[in-house]
Amino acid sequence: MKQLRGRLKAKKLKPTGALASYHLEPLDPWLMCGPDTTVTELWKVRERRERDIQYHLVYFDRYGWYCEHGAGCKAVAEVRRVVRATSANGTRPKSSGKARARKRK
Ligand SMILES: [Zn+2]
Repeated sequence: MKQLRGRLKAKKLKPTGALASYHLEPLDPWLMCGPDTTVTELWKVRERRERDIQYHLVYFDRYGWYCEHGAGCKAVAEVRRVVRATSANGTRPKSSGKARARKRK
């Protein structure tokens, strides 16, 4: 019988490190970029990863979706996913859900 020498170390693999969570807020492209803009969608994305928070601005115009960090930014995929989901419902998420939890007495 073969004996395993030493102990096999139980390596715990973290799946992707910290999971990022995204908070998306639709902005008005006309207000942000002016009336001549070709941008039809503008989203502010807050990416939270443990204690790090990163902001993205994601645009949509005739060239397609892109982030201020480039078209390959993760926030682009996130916004597209949400926009697809919400446009299927015909509704957009509320511009800010932060103050919604307030209870009146
Ligand atoms: Zn970005």
